[in-house]
Amino acid sequence: MRPYEDKRKGRGTRRCRICGTSRGLIRRYSLNICRRCFREVAREIGFEKY
Ligand SMILES: [Zn+2]
Repeated sequence: MRPYEDKRKGRGTRRCRICGTSRGLIRRYSLNICRRCFREVAREIGFEKY
């Protein structure tokens, strides 16, 4: 019984946690965000170059 996961993202569903898309996802750093959002987040986490 996992009410948390079940409600949150089902099972195995991976999508951008920012915009919600499932295309171009980057899971390299467990960010679970798409390439588009990655560029924005990258600045915050200290990545200037992709
Ligand atoms: Zn995104």
